[in-house]
Parts: sequence; structure tokens; C-alpha cells
Amino acid sequence: MAEATDRHPPVLRAVTVPVTHAGGQYAIRIETGRYRSLGQTLRQTFGDHPCAVVIVSNPKVARHYAAAVVESVAAAGFHPHLCLIPDGERYKTLRTVAQIWDFCVARQIERRDLLVALGGGVVGDITGFAAATYLRGLAFVQLPTTLLAMIDSAVGGKTGINHRAGKNLIGAFHQPALVVADLETLTTLPRREWNAGWHEAIKYGVIRDADLFARLEARLPLALNQPLPWDWLAAVVADCCRIKAAIVARDERETGERKVLNFGHTVGHALEAVTRYRRFRHGEAVGIGMVAACQIAVRLGKLTPDEAQRLEQLVRRVGRMPGTDGITVAALLEALRHDKKVSQGRLRFILPSRIGWAEEYCGSVEEVLPAVLTDTLA
Ligand code: NAD
Ligand code: MG
Repeated sequence: MAEATDRHPPVLRAVTVPVTHAGGQYAIRIETGRYRSLGQTLRQTFGDHPCAVVIVSNPKVARHYAAAVVESVAAAGFHPHLCLIPDGERYKTLRTVAQIWDFCVARQIERRDLLVALGGGVVGDITGFAAATYLRGLAFVQLPTTLLAMIDSAVGGKTGINHRAGKNLIGAFHQPALVVADLETLTTLPRREWNAGWHEAIKYGVIRDADLFARLEARLPLALNQPLPWDWLAAVVADCCRIKAAIVARDERETGERKVLNFGHTVGHALEAVTRYRRFRHGEAVGIGMVAACQIAVRLGKLTPDEAQRLEQLVRRVGRMPGTDGITVAALLEALRHDKKVSQGRLRFILPSRIGWAEEYCGSVEEVLPAVLTDTLA
């Protein structure tokens, strides 16, 4: 979909989504071109403080956007520092966090200063965790540059890193002070990353918003070949953020409703784990996982086959997926048992009862699971 948005975007009226959490409130601003005047926005949000702004990014993203961000931050009277970390999920480690800590110590960054995450979910999660821990907590701003980061990882305050034993095992809840989702940054996003994000957008439609689902249904196949209207995209991003923000406001620590955001993630994570996180983009695995969850729901009599079919068609239309060759049902079942979502020895699934509503299913899925996984791999 990169070609769909590679025109210079018009200046959109900013859409603001407020997010309320236990510690207060912040805004997600959905705009185009704001990264070039981020300094001004920081001044409006933080007043005279902070003095130093550490912009954390990776070389791939920095190449396009860091110079303008640094320039605007300096122009607004802050001291900008650009801290580059290596690109990729495999660098989402304590070592990279330590690199940011060292960078901050060397520049005498103080508690009133600010960290800015300029990048996708990996940069956001690492920077958020560094901000949560450096001097016991610094304010941080997210400038997400992938569709997935805009609609998912930049919202909700989960930050963290991976452990040898699993993804996101170490982390902290640390809410950003501001999120600027600048759609213009998506003009350089590779097609596969767009698609990974679309699967998470579809997820929001299935779990909470039938109208959003219908809009994606109407536009996604066309969007592959036609320019994607910026205002349409802004509305979709805003709706996804609103859905996640509302759920997180009610259940920040994931003791109840927030689990619904894991729709498609149980089988999705298993697929990622058995392929050692190398074959699928996370969103792709979630796409396949959502189809599997719908099949489970159909077999349990909770969802009509027609609704499941709609989801499957939409997931297919997003784009080609990596194959499932070499993956066995036994390996998937084994991975499922190790998943974080196994609670009190039982596998927990989020199942939809219709397009627009899903909930945690408390009964057992064991009876239908092998058949569904066999279909998944077919
Ligand atoms: P990512 O950050 O790895 O970005 C994908 C690739 O696109 C990278 O190579 C990146 O450098 C590149 N990229 C980013 N923006 C670009 C741009 N504008 N133009 C060109 N290239 C660009 O992946 P992601 O999908 O954004 O995030 C995945 C991460 O997010 C995972 O680590 C996952 O655990 C985490 N996550 C966290 C939460 C949360 O609540 N904190 C939620 C969902 C996912
Ligand atoms: Mg996800």
C-alpha cells in the first residue's frame, strides 16, 4: 500500500483522541506533517520544560525523519540529542535499553527532560521502558511511524523488552505524555508493514466496531490499487485508538476486559513462536490467528459461519501471507501450552459472537482445537 500514499499528503485538521489512565490523561494527535514542527508541539504541551529532548530512533526511520525532528526541537529552544539504536525485534533487549541509559547518563539527562520515541513498535517499547526506568521515570512522547504502532503499541502504556525465554517478558506500565501519529511518516512504510497493521485494525473491528469492519471491508481491496484517502485513513486510525483507549481506561492492568485485545493472538503467538519469530510479521500471525479463533467460535456454535467467512475474506484480501509449511499441529499445541494466556492450566481464547463483539471464552476449547489447527495449516 506504499504507493497508495506516496503523494505528498494534504494538511489534515488534527484529530485528537484523549486517553485517560490511572495517573492522568494524554492526547493522541493524528495529523500529517506534524513531525516537522514537533518542537512547537512540545512547547505547547510541556511549557518551559523539558530542556533536553532525547530522540530515540533507528537508522531506517531516522534517515527519513530525524533531521526534521531534531531541527524543529532545536528551533523551539530545546537541546536535542539523537540516540540511534539498531533496527529490529532482535535488538529489543536489555542491552539496547542499557545503551539508551548510557547515552542519557553521558549527556546528564535529568528527570525534567524528555525522551521521544521516533519509530515503530520496537523503538516505542524500548524507549518507553528506558523512560520508565531511567532516574525512576522520565516523561516520554511517542511519534509512531508504523500503522501498527499508531493503532496499537503507542496506545496503552505497555513498554518493555524481550527475554531469551519469550517476547515482552520484562517491562513496565509507563504512559506517554503525548502521542503524535503523523500519517505522513507512513509514506515510506513498506507494503508488508502496512499489511501487518491492517490485521490489527481488522481486529478492532471484529471485537468492538462493526462499522469500522465494514469500512475496512469496503476499502481495503481497493486500497491496494488506488490512493488511500488521507481523511479515511485518519478516521480509521482514530477509531482504532479510541477503541483501545476506552478498553485500557477501564482495565489498564489487563485483569479483565483488556484481554479482548488479544483476539487472534493465542494462535498468532503460537505461529510466531514455532517459526522463531522469523517467518511472520506479528500482524500476519494475528490475521491467521483471528481466522482460527472464528473457526473455534463457529464449531462451538457461538458465531455464524457467514460472519466467520466475512473475516476470513477480509484477512485474505489484505495480502499474501507466508506459508505454513513445516509447521505441525503438535508443535502449535505445544507452543499454545507455553503461552502467557494459559491461566490456571487452561487455554484462554477470545471469541467473537458477531462481527463487532468478542469476549473471553471461559469454557474449554480443547475438543475443537486440533481440527481447527489442522484447517489453519491446510
Ligand atoms: P517495527 O518497529 O519493527 O517496525 C517494522 C519495520 O519498519 C522496522 O524495520 C522499522 O525500522 C521500519 N519502519 C518503521 N517505520 C517506518 C517508516 N515510517 N518508514 C520506513 N520504515 C519504517 O515493528 P512494528 O510492527 O511497528 O512493532 C512491533 C513491535 O511492537 C513488537 O516488538 C511488539 O511486541 C510491539 N507491540 C507492543 C504493543 C504495546 O502495547 N506496547 C502492542 C503491539 C505491539
Ligand atoms: Mg498485537
